[in-house]
Amino acid sequence: MPVNPHRPNRSEAEGLHPASLVLVSSNPLPLPIATLTPNLDGLWLTDDLLFNFQRCRRRMFLDVYGDQQLRDPPNDYLLKLHQDSLAHQRTVLANDLVHRPNYPRRDWVAGATATLEFMQQGVDRITQGVLQMTLENGVNLVSCPDILVKQPGQSIFGDWLYAPVDIRLGKRPKLDYQVAATFHAYVLAVVQGMWSETSWLMLRQRGSYAVNLVEMLPRMQEALQGCMETLLQPEEPELFIAHNRCDLCQWFSHCYGLAQSDRHLSLLPGVTPSRYAFLKEQNITTVETLAVAIPKQLESLPGFGLQVAHRLIRQAQSTLQNQALADVTPPHPPPHPLLSAIELPTASVELYFDIEAAPEQNLVYLHGVLVVDRFAQSEIFYPLLAEHQRDEGLVWEQFLELVWQYPDAPIFHFCPYEVQTAKRLAEQYGTPSDRVEPLMARFVDLHERVTRVAILPVESYALKPIARWLGFDWRDPDANGAQSICWYAKWLETGDRAFLEAILRYNEDDCRATHRVKDWLVEFSQNFAS
Ligand code: SF4
Repeated sequence: MPVNPHRPNRSEAEGLHPASLVLVSSNPLPLPIATLTPNLDGLWLTDDLLFNFQRCRRRMFLDVYGDQQLRDPPNDYLLKLHQDSLAHQRTVLANDLVHRPNYPRRDWVAGATATLEFMQQGVDRITQGVLQMTLENGVNLVSCPDILVKQPGQSIFGDWLYAPVDIRLGKRPKLDYQVAATFHAYVLAVVQGMWSETSWLMLRQRGSYAVNLVEMLPRMQEALQGCMETLLQPEEPELFIAHNRCDLCQWFSHCYGLAQSDRHLSLLPGVTPSRYAFLKEQNITTVETLAVAIPKQLESLPGFGLQVAHRLIRQAQSTLQNQALADVTPPHPPPHPLLSAIELPTASVELYFDIEAAPEQNLVYLHGVLVVDRFAQSEIFYPLLAEHQRDEGLVWEQFLELVWQYPDAPIFHFCPYEVQTAKRLAEQYGTPSDRVEPLMARFVDLHERVTRVAILPVESYALKPIARWLGFDWRDPDANGAQSICWYAKWLETGDRAFLEAILRYNEDDCRATHRVKDWLVEFSQNFAS
């Protein structure tokens, strides 16, 4: 495969605006070779499908063949992502004269015709254009790059050609972004009879990124082939619930309902897609069969080992019995490895701490602290809220003042995020070390403590499933961190204090749930001590 003699490197690419993209050479790669998967004549395969395929092949299959009525309506967080994406696109295109082809929504043929006309005219920028080609097997590939940018070079149109640009919200040029960008370049190469030098990603925080087409083309072709083979299958691919990819999927309720009724192994913490594949090879496909498996049978499987094998089996047993079990996984020798009083202190005053933040804006907008005074038998919640982004430093100071009113009180939180954020804020706002360092010693991460000593019948060791299993209920059952970010954005947009109240309610419940987990963990440890 001929290699592009001048491919922009990262430093060349960073900070580039599409307006300043200049090609040096226009012959980097061979033209696409049609993929010869049969029997898909008439299928329209879009860049969106290819993108979703990379996250989950079942999702792509359901997008094409699934009962669309089973899709969840977009939740607030998805809608916010969409709005943020449009706002980012408007910013990128603010100073450019762009041409937008006129065509009925999802009428790819009309869209491709209108886009081609603009390309033949040689206009500088085309947004929401459609590129289309047909493979030898009859599959129509449809690519909709956010922008097509005119460049100097030779194409079937004359002494100009186009390069595709995708505008993305993400911070990093993720692999799935790059594969989709390569797909644009692939279809565009057929439309204009020449490869563009590269395909660009415009990332919100990092600026422009030039995709290495030589490197990415085989990956893209592999994904394309995978898409077509998946679509040829008579049955939908098996589900696998993995919260990092399923939570924002509109098929979630459908898949999750099936997973629950089947007691699918992916609902067990610790069962990853690759471990699941190995378990299936051992004919372990149910919670029941995993619960009676012998650790030796699993230990030698790739990605398992002694600890994982033991823990997975105990996890299945805990789920079957709906009971908390002590983690006696090696190297913990029985009896149970108890938490010491230092590791899990009980004090007259205890603080329960939870942060709400919008990582995309690098903003911490709420420090929620529940002060539990065991002697006075009081519980007071302090919501230290930045009503505006500029108040972040102010509420950080308020937080420090509050926690220093109780210099001996342990500060319980769930997961490392609170400690990491406190360190970052201290650095950002130049907080003297004698006000911060002693605090670090007072933080107690209950997630770490729980997962070290207990195995619970939960689907994940996040705060919500654990506290819910203990009987704790959030006043707003659908509230979560992503929803809190949406509420904060809506408060900034509308000034409606109902959104702030919803955030405070949710955060207070998180603090109270953390308190509940702590009390339970003390009791659990004591039971094993006695
Ligand atoms: S919910 Fe998960 S398993 Fe189901 S289609 Fe979506 S990503 Fe795939």
